[in-house]
Amino acid sequence: MNLLLPILAVLIGFGISYFLYEKFVIINFLLAFSGSFLLSVTVLEFLPGIYNSGVDSIGVFILGGILLQIMLEYMSGGAEHGHLHISKENTNFPWVLFVSLCIHAFLEGVPIHGNDHLLYAVIIHKVPIAIIISSFLFNTNLSKAKVVFFLLIFGIMTPFGSFVQANTTLFDDIGIYLNAIVIGIFLHVSTTILFESSKDHKFNIYKFGIIVLGIFLALIL
Ligand SMILES: [Zn+2]
Ligand SMILES: [Zn+2]
Repeated sequence: MNLLLPILAVLIGFGISYFLYEKFVIINFLLAFSGSFLLSVTVLEFLPGIYNSGVDSIGVFILGGILLQIMLEYMSGGAEHGHLHISKENTNFPWVLFVSLCIHAFLEGVPIHGNDHLLYAVIIHKVPIAIIISSFLFNTNLSKAKVVFFLLIFGIMTPFGSFVQANTTLFDDIGIYLNAIVIGIFLHVSTTILFESSKDHKFNIYKFGIIVLGIFLALIL
């Protein structure tokens, strides 16, 4: 079930983009909510757990995660937090975007096994991203087959990360470091979403309310 939810998130995103892409407002609110909820769950639960593990200099890996996410966003143009900058005329498969999104999605699957709140946070974070990516790709000159391939592989990367964590011994020794890296990724992605969600930094009472709601829900979970 937990493996299916992230795939469902991508499908829901695809469905929304297909049927109601006009609703830009919804996507922006969804993005703001997902950013604040992801940040809150990370700070309230995920981060303290890592520091309580007692592993020396684990904070270095959190900083490493932030740097890794910055590099991934150079490759993806910021698709992980909600916008895309590749040419719509492009008919070649966007490999750089694809690889960078897949690395990001795989890594965020690693800690969600056995952590339900984080699982919800990642799923909520995925829906607006999937809407934006699929609606963007379907509006390029890429063939439908290429777009479907892109979304399919992207959709299974997060459950694949969880699966490897849960069913192999591959990450047994490095799991704690991977988790710290993912914290860095989440910190960067979620704060960037919140930063970019306020257009020209004008105060928007609705958006502020949505952000507070995300924090509140993470607190009472
Ligand atoms: Zn950006
Ligand atoms: Zn993500």
